[in-house]
Amino acid sequence: MMNDTIAQISSALGQGAISIVRMSGEDAVKIANKVFDGTDLEKVMSHTVHYGHIKHKDKNIDEVLLSVFLAPKTFTTENIVEINCHGGVYVANKILEILLLEGARSANPGEFTERAFLNGRIDLTQAEAVMDIIEAKSDLSLSLANKGLDGEIYKLIVDLRTDLLAIIAHIEVNIDYPEYDDVIELSNNIVKPKILDLLTKINNLLEKASYGKIIKDGLKTAIIGKPNVGKSSLLNALLREDKAIVTEIKGTTRDIVEGSINIGGIILNLIDTAGIRESEDLIEKIGIDKAKTIINEAELILFVLDNNQNLTEEDEKLLELTKDKKRIIIINKTDLNKELYHTFKNSVSVSALHKTGINELEVIIKDMFLSGEVNITDQTYISNARHIAKLDETLTSLNDSLVAIEDLLPIDMVEIDLKTAWDTLGEIIGDTSSTSLLDELFSKFCLGK
Ligand code: GDP
Repeated sequence: MMNDTIAQISSALGQGAISIVRMSGEDAVKIANKVFDGTDLEKVMSHTVHYGHIKHKDKNIDEVLLSVFLAPKTFTTENIVEINCHGGVYVANKILEILLLEGARSANPGEFTERAFLNGRIDLTQAEAVMDIIEAKSDLSLSLANKGLDGEIYKLIVDLRTDLLAIIAHIEVNIDYPEYDDVIELSNNIVKPKILDLLTKINNLLEKASYGKIIKDGLKTAIIGKPNVGKSSLLNALLREDKAIVTEIKGTTRDIVEGSINIGGIILNLIDTAGIRESEDLIEKIGIDKAKTIINEAELILFVLDNNQNLTEEDEKLLELTKDKKRIIIINKTDLNKELYHTFKNSVSVSALHKTGINELEVIIKDMFLSGEVNITDQTYISNARHIAKLDETLTSLNDSLVAIEDLLPIDMVEIDLKTAWDTLGEIIGDTSSTSLLDELFSKFCLGK
């Protein structure tokens, strides 16, 4: 039911200075007014803040600041009331409970954003960008998410759809009022070049999308090397960079990730840091299969060697195992001044102990993954896995339409593939999306968002 009024605690559950309880729906102001001791909320202007108390059955619950936003210029386009109360778990829950007693319904995860989408305030890519902002871990990923929220991804997709619609329209017109007697001529001279143009545009977006994904999700990174070469020291050196943030990432798909560091704006999600700290033989300790799994899983391998030790059999084994991966050889302990390794591609000399060479490492990582080309200010990068998958599907349909042209199939067969492509692009922005897609998507949001 879209016109009921929903309520939820929108701040993180835990003690803090302030908690926010939010309500959206036709009766939001009416319900708030029943429990608010202060100004008569039914008489206030939109976008105003009011001081007062939440009272229930004559009992004072909390001193609050209450904001009123009247439809339609609100996040959900509905009436919204936000109550800033004291930041205790109990008090916030108590206020929520009272609002529910007075007629609001407890909001599902993401339901506020879902309403913003369903009421046409934002498209699906903007809704997803809201999540990306919440999850952003670096300046770059935050800029990327903000572009999404500004509707930049939406615009990209709408432009592609406009091109596609022009092709479909051309075919339709010709079916209704044949301008070309020769359909083959229409297909080859008009339709085909336009489809090829569109394919190029989508391919370009997808090419850049790999950058977007790295900026958004970071790189799964494994630090490997034999005992005592300085893996833990390197990790510590990276962590102590003032820009570094260590975060615990919880979640099912990323269980093996144990922390993230921000190095030069790129997030390295470290995998198997436990293995790093073990001082035993990596392969002997965890077994070759596990080592392979870690290596396979990693998108970036930081391979640490000791500048003062010759390559051992284990080094050779690990070098062999990682030879096809994106790998940076880190030659450590260069402060000790014996140079044994000069010949590796993508290598960098560091001293984990003295924290030298870390900036060079940063540069190598950037060059390796972003080719120095990334410019968030004048480019929009698709970064969302769902969008990428849908663009891939769109490519398939467009290629099918080209095959249909090659095979001299009737032009309405070509059109079917183009319409499929149109629908697939529509799913990105939520235009032709199914309810199951929406349910799945919004259920990933936090409660109260
Ligand atoms: P891990 O077993 O690979 O994790 O190696 P550690 O980080 O525990 O380092 C092993 C030893 O090497 C420790 O005594 C470190 O202090 C020392 N070490 C690590 N990096 C350097 C370095 O850059 N220079 C010097 N001189 N010693 C280092």
